Amino acid sequence: MHTGSCLCGKVRYEYRGEIDEVSMCHCTQCQKAQGSAFAAVAPIRSADFRITQGADYLKEYRATPNKARVFCAECGSPLFSARDDLPEAKRLRLGTLDSAISPSKRYHAWVSSKAAWFDLTDEHPKFEEFAR
Ligand SMILES: [Zn+2]
Ligand SMILES: [Zn+2]
Repeated sequence: MHTGSCLCGKVRYEYRGEIDEVSMCHCTQCQKAQGSAFAAVAPIRSADFRITQGADYLKEYRATPNKARVFCAECGSPLFSARDDLPEAKRLRLGTLDSAISPSKRYHAWVSSKAAWFDLTDEHPKFEEFAR
């Protein structure tokens, strides 16, 4: 089982599933939302994900109408995103994990809008827009 939390620690979650895939998303929305070059996210099953503490602190923002970006209202940590048309899945922000993972699959998405100051020098697959 995996556990995670936001920066201030008010929100905590657990995930009873494997995390085997990491998408590093370089789209401009993720750059803004993370305040960084990219977002590192993993697809997870909603049924196996549970907020164990601080659900009252969760706030969501919709940069696109059908997708909620959920974050801690106290410290601003982005926790996950969820699409209205895909309730069985979420995309977890991996920087909030407190447990270790060793994913077999890693790739870069939306490389077409990558930050000019960030060099992609690893061997992972790179997709111009959406992955696959
Ligand atoms: Zn917080
Ligand atoms: Zn993105």
